[in-house]
Amino acid sequence: MDRHTKMKTREDSSCNVYLNGLGLGSIAAAMYLIQKADFDASNIHIFEQMGATELVGGSCDASELTVDEQPAYSMQGSRMFEDRVYPCTKELWSIIPYNDDESCLQDHQKNREECRVHTVVRLLHEHGETDTGYRLGLNTAEKLKMARLLATPEFAIPDGAKITDIFGEAFFTSNFWYMWRALFAFQPWHSAVEMKRYMRLFFHEMPNMDTMVALERTRFTNFHSFILPALRFMQNKGVNVHYNSRISDVDFKADSTGQERWIELIHLETGSGKPKPSIQVHDTDLVFLTIGSIVSNASFGAHDRPVDKPALDAQNLGGAWTLWKKIAAKQSDFGRPEQFLRDISQSTMMTFTVTFRGGLFQRKFEWLVERQMGRQSPLPITASPWILHLHTYRQPLFPDQPRDTCVIWVTALGSNRIGTFVNKTMPECTGREILEELLGHLQFNHDEGEKNEILDTSTCIPCLLPYCTSQFLGRARGDRPAVVPEGSQNFALLGQFVEIPDGIVFTTEYSVLGAIHAVKRFVEPSLEVPPMYFGQHQPLTAVAVARALMR
Ligand SMILES: Cc1cc2nc3c(=O)[nH]c(=O)nc-3n(C[C@H](O)[C@H](O)[C@H](O)COP(=O)(O)OP(=O)(O)OC[C@H]3O[C@@H](n4cnc5c(N)ncnc54)[C@H](O)[C@@H]3O)c2cc1C
Repeated sequence: MDRHTKMKTREDSSCNVYLNGLGLGSIAAAMYLIQKADFDASNIHIFEQMGATELVGGSCDASELTVDEQPAYSMQGSRMFEDRVYPCTKELWSIIPYNDDESCLQDHQKNREECRVHTVVRLLHEHGETDTGYRLGLNTAEKLKMARLLATPEFAIPDGAKITDIFGEAFFTSNFWYMWRALFAFQPWHSAVEMKRYMRLFFHEMPNMDTMVALERTRFTNFHSFILPALRFMQNKGVNVHYNSRISDVDFKADSTGQERWIELIHLETGSGKPKPSIQVHDTDLVFLTIGSIVSNASFGAHDRPVDKPALDAQNLGGAWTLWKKIAAKQSDFGRPEQFLRDISQSTMMTFTVTFRGGLFQRKFEWLVERQMGRQSPLPITASPWILHLHTYRQPLFPDQPRDTCVIWVTALGSNRIGTFVNKTMPECTGREILEELLGHLQFNHDEGEKNEILDTSTCIPCLLPYCTSQFLGRARGDRPAVVPEGSQNFALLGQFVEIPDGIVFTTEYSVLGAIHAVKRFVEPSLEVPPMYFGQHQPLTAVAVARALMR
């Protein structure tokens, strides 16, 4: 049976598609199957380990809580987008209905017209010194190293090479690095190959690193702006979402030559690990598995309580990692999950969400950055030992947020260091103490009365993500499997830990791109994969970048 015949069989018969998790990879695959491949939605089964009322959306979560009878909000992650680097994400938004008349993309474009980012204060240095970020601050030697990295083919970069193997000390104290790190969460010990891929794909944005005019955010949280509309659409179409159900393992079979492989059985368990009946998978069925998750083992704290210590033993490792470890032990070309789990001191990121009531913080912040909420890019606080980056949004960020509240979200890449204003590491601090540290760096602590008013009328919820930047750890060829491993007849692998040439991990784009490849390979060969844009091939862009680097 040739490939095309198999695809026709899938279209015509009642073949089922099984996916693990309501992360973006699964959601994108389901949306493309329904909207671009005319696939019968009722034959799609998504197994999510969480319960229906728990965190859903994987990394793209959003939680609304009540704390002391007041609304408070929390997100593990939050995303920034750009037009040329995100063609797949944008295409996905175009096929998710936002309301009766518009797609998520149409609503996004309207929101962007209403509120564009144009930053004035791009960096905040020691003692509250503001900086426009116009000067990138790279010396000639570091610029040449950047040019060399861009020109070096990936295969010529040694396995496991780190960013520190490429750049010298001066690079890591430049404005360029402070701004770059704030956008993408790179650490000096992260992979040189990932750095190169980001530099290639964001090359055309280097001249805009000060104003960040191309930065896009969704109208509300990412969950409310495109995950929830997708879930509603899928539910209306009849997609089967099985909550509290984890794919714990799968069994493979091969033909006599061992070259063609199928998944033949899916093992299921409840979220708490109790076995559930297995599923027999037919040769014409499909199984799309998300492997590894950057929000696995997340732990949370509260305004008056530090984050819980995350349980990281083998029993508690989330479903995406456990599944990958099991299948990688059975199939030699399925990558090496342990490479990405090897050292949480190199992959941990902390984030916190603050709900301010009463308007004082918002007024002070807008005055500081000379911008209204929503028109400001992430603000790196360069002197902060916790390496804080402050993300502000057009309000309301949550659709039901009361008028006098303002929600912000902050990332920390150096959480294990002692803070400047609180004499503790971040995981030791309550949400209130973490906020106190932030207010100190913003110089909002000079007036004791105002500082206490902000601390007393806000709710800060910290979150610790031990594997958040694990996808950036130095890696070797073969550490990540292909989306469709050689000889696969009915399965594909999705998420942040597959290998997609030239693609950049830690993005929605990567999860959507993988899903498109999987659907194209098995169901709809005519599907077009939106092309990547490489600005360095445009002479005018190259000149603009060269000029920016001179600043
Ligand atoms: C802090 C942070 C900041 C980010 N910033 C940006 C940004 O600015 N721009 C950008 O483009 N991207 C950003 N991202 C990245 C982007 O959000 C993620 O890469 C993407 O959402 C990952 O989606 P995923 O499909 O791989 O799965 P995940 O989000 O990891 O979700 C996996 C889901 O599957 C479930 N699951 C896993 N295994 C199983 C199983 N075996 N059985 C049942 N259920 C299972 C999990 O419970 C979860 O719901 C950010 C992410 C984070 C965390």
